[in-house]
Amino acid sequence: MTIIDAHLHYVPEVKYFNTIADNAESENSEAGLRAEFHAHHIACGIVMGNAGLNPEDNRFPDFLRYCIGIEAYELGKRDNSAAIDKIEANLRRPQCVGIKLYPGYSSVYITDRRYEPVYELAEKYDKPVAVHTGQTAGSNAMLRYSHPLTIDDAAVLHPHVRFVMCHYGNPFLMDAAAVAEKNGNVSVDLSGLIEGKLSPSYFQEQCHYLEALRTWITYVEDYSKFMFGTDWPLANYSDYIELTRQIIPEKHWEAVFRKNAERIYQLHI
Ligand SMILES: [Zn+2]
Repeated sequence: MTIIDAHLHYVPEVKYFNTIADNAESENSEAGLRAEFHAHHIACGIVMGNAGLNPEDNRFPDFLRYCIGIEAYELGKRDNSAAIDKIEANLRRPQCVGIKLYPGYSSVYITDRRYEPVYELAEKYDKPVAVHTGQTAGSNAMLRYSHPLTIDDAAVLHPHVRFVMCHYGNPFLMDAAAVAEKNGNVSVDLSGLIEGKLSPSYFQEQCHYLEALRTWITYVEDYSKFMFGTDWPLANYSDYIELTRQIIPEKHWEAVFRKNAERIYQLHI
């Protein structure tokens, strides 16, 4: 079985991410990522963009696709047509398989009016909108903007837009499960649930956390909604694959590790 990583970051040789990668015993470089993909039979990865809106700044190796990452301030101007044009230029490219929003890091809800043109484009190109949900890195961010219930609002207001709830709203798992179960246009990526290299006793020490993950994934009763993802370079691939195997029943591995991402992001690989 080959794997698709539905959520990673590609910022090779950036010092801040090098340190994060060191903590995960990963090598934050193209060669390092290629080696991981080869070792773990990963056929494709989807980069959550952090490089701004210019298409030329969003160039990635051939084994990767990307979601164009949008920060709230980029759409905050009264006339944001230049930003919208750039987003559309990305969406026209086959390598660009979706849109990524980062609420929580900006104090703007995803239902803010500034995002209306983004949702129109997502519908026009039939490419999903992936949204950071749940815990944020750093204490300056405000969690209510990244709470999974915000996805419910957006999904109801935009029934023809497909949403991906990144990180399953962790640790707001109960709320995330309600949103995922209720809305046919919401799926989930299981990235960012652990980070760094795990200690050998991790799974035993955190058995209740794993049980909570199993509980709220099982509750949804629809494994076609869940995608394997890591948040690399924050994560160690061996640990992350093991975690996913522990929280997903084996009969659904093919769907969760590969097929769902292939369908949701329309990857023709
Ligand atoms: Zn991420």
